[in-house]
Formats: sequence, C-alpha cells, structure tokens
Amino acid sequence: MDANGTGRHYSNRVKYLTRLEQVPQLSGEETDRLKSVTDLYAFQANDYYLSLIDWNDPDDPIRRLVIPRIEELTDIGDLDASHEIDYTVARGVQHKYRRTVVLLVSRTCAAYCRFCFRKRLFMPGNDEAPLDVEPGLRYIAETPQVTNVLISGGDPLMLSTGKLEHIISRLSEIHHLRIIRIGTKVPGFNPYRILDDGRLHALIDRFSSRRLKIYVITHFTHPHELTEPAENAVGVLQRSGAICANQTSLLAGINDDPEILGELFTRLSWIGSPPYYMFQCRPTQGNAIFRVPLVKGHRIFQQALAKASDLGRRARYVMSHHSGKIEILGVDERCIYFRYHRAANHEDEGCFMIYRRDDRACWFDDLKPAESPGLRRVKTTGGREDGRHITEQISN
Ligand code: SF4
Repeated sequence: MDANGTGRHYSNRVKYLTRLEQVPQLSGEETDRLKSVTDLYAFQANDYYLSLIDWNDPDDPIRRLVIPRIEELTDIGDLDASHEIDYTVARGVQHKYRRTVVLLVSRTCAAYCRFCFRKRLFMPGNDEAPLDVEPGLRYIAETPQVTNVLISGGDPLMLSTGKLEHIISRLSEIHHLRIIRIGTKVPGFNPYRILDDGRLHALIDRFSSRRLKIYVITHFTHPHELTEPAENAVGVLQRSGAICANQTSLLAGINDDPEILGELFTRLSWIGSPPYYMFQCRPTQGNAIFRVPLVKGHRIFQQALAKASDLGRRARYVMSHHSGKIEILGVDERCIYFRYHRAANHEDEGCFMIYRRDDRACWFDDLKPAESPGLRRVKTTGGREDGRHITEQISN
C-alpha cells in the first residue's frame, strides 16, 4: 500500500503524476499559465492514460478530459450542482432514492476528469468522503428498505484491495442488501490496477452470490479509452462474477458527436458493459466548457442510438437533478418532454413533464413550464391490468 492507503501499488506498470510539470509534452509556458487552474481544481493523471493522447492534436478528446484549461476559471457555477448535501444522512452517506444509498469511500481517482461533478472532494480541506465507513455501514444495516448500495467517491478501486474487501465483506453481512454497485473509471484510467491484482478478482468471485450481486459501473467516455488492456480488464471483472454496465457524460468537445457516441455505445455492448445512462453534464463550477444544450444533446443522443447496435441502445439520457433523475424523452418545435426516471420525492416517480423549448438551456432549472393548460405536468400512474397506460393530470 502506498503512503495514502490507496490501491496505486497494484499498478506497478503505471506511474502517477500529480503536477503538470511532470507531463513532458507540456511546455513550461503552458504549465505556468495553467497553475492558477490547478491551484483551484486538483490535477492528477498517469502515464498510461496520457499515452492515449495524440499530442499533435490540441483538440484531442483524452487531452480535454484530463489536461486543465484556463477557461475552467471563467465559470463560477455551484460546486455541488445536484445539492448532494441535502441528501447526506451521515458523513459520506447519501440517501436520495428509497432503496439506494451512496457511500463515498475514496478521496482520490486514478486521474481527475476536468468535468468532474464532485471536484469539491479533491479540493483542500474537503473531508466529505470519510476514512471511516462505519457510520455508513451502520446506517444501511439499520435501514431495511435499502437493497442497493453504490460505492463511490472518488474511485473505490483506488482503495487498497484489503480495504475494499473489508467494506464489501461488511456489506455482505447485511441481509436486506441485494446489490453492491462499484462506480469506477479505473478500467478506463488504469486497467492494470485490475489486470494485475488477483486478490481483487478473488474478492469479486467470493462475494458474488445468488443473494448478492456485484455490479461494476464503468465510466468509459470516449472510444479511445477502449484499448485492449481496458477491454481485458472488463473481461476479467466479468469472469470474476461482476455484472458490468456503463455510464457516461455528454461532453462538448469530447463526445458530443453521434458518430463517436454511436461507436462508444456499440463497442461497450460488445465488451459486455452496455450503456445504461448518458448524463447531462451538471452545472458544476468550472464545467461550462463541457456543457451541451439539452435540445442539441437530445438530437445527438437520438442519432447515436440510431447508429448503435441493439444492446448499445439501452442507454437513457438523464439529468441528475436535485429533485431526481430526469429523463429527456423528446423535443418538438415548442416543447421538451421529460419524465422522472427516479424521484427524490416518491410522489413524483414516473411524473411526465412538458417544458417550453429553449435551445440554449443546459439544465432543467434553465427552462420554463409549458403554458398550455393540461400540458405541463402529468403523473404516469403505471400500466393497468388491461395493459393501457394511464396518466393523471396533477397540475397545470
Ligand atoms: S472518475 Fe468520477 S469522481 Fe473521479 S474525477 Fe472523474 S468524474 Fe470525478
């Protein structure tokens, strides 16, 4: 284990860089210029991930993903755009949806995405992700409606395998828990962390059972991340007993192109980590350069789905809004149509909403409800025995 108690030592083939000056392809002038950015928002990368960059291309997508840009400083959004703090029931424990708890277990990632929605965690003085997970384990054990836990952070696979084993072993003792999700970008950032650690494979194998399933939620963002080692890492996780699925963010200048997204979705389905969420980039501070308007995002997403192979089409385009996970269903000349895929207030679950079309809007809060009476907000109350889907208007 390294001095920080992380799992970096499993990646002997990979060298971590925490200062821009360590990136040989950047000039002294560039690193000087970007110092004010890295003073505010942490930088971290590793030589494997940086090797995916075409340094002759200033717009290279992997470069945009990890190398800071001065424009990050011009945006003064919210550091906690989804107001995670409102759902925090104990330090590092979020309970927003009835059956799911999020546990923040790690304060670091194998690299830092410039568009990170939790960049606050990596800022000096932030201790939201606790080193002690006991309060979180206790909360889950005492809350019987919780059947799912998402282990997140930071990246759980940056913990030492011993520490991860302790957490998973303790979770496995909670009998109402049926699913443990590990949210990780390590297969993309540093697949050798997985490939070289037999103890991790044994851990997944040991705790995957008929009663308890371990899902690994990969975070591939661009097809260039789907290298042979990355695909092999996903294969190893699957053979160890994990079920994989992928979530990605829609990012301007990185993957806001139907060809790129379509290829990503298709190849993810081929490697057995099919896409299930494509997230609208949150209005987190420093992220304005990555944001794609909702109307444009919907068009790109639909075109990408049309290009993707069957299981690549399982993706949903959603916003992780303060009030819930809002799916962007459709757009016409006048309106944008949404539905709560998950709602913090369970009364809103499945609610269908119609808002006035605004081609510049990048977030739900930027929009105004449609004015036509009866068109604004209806609650879908589910399928009836006769198979018809009924809706009930709940407000104008
Ligand atoms: S992997 Fe996730 S938590 Fe880590 S820097 Fe990227 S977006 Fe943030």
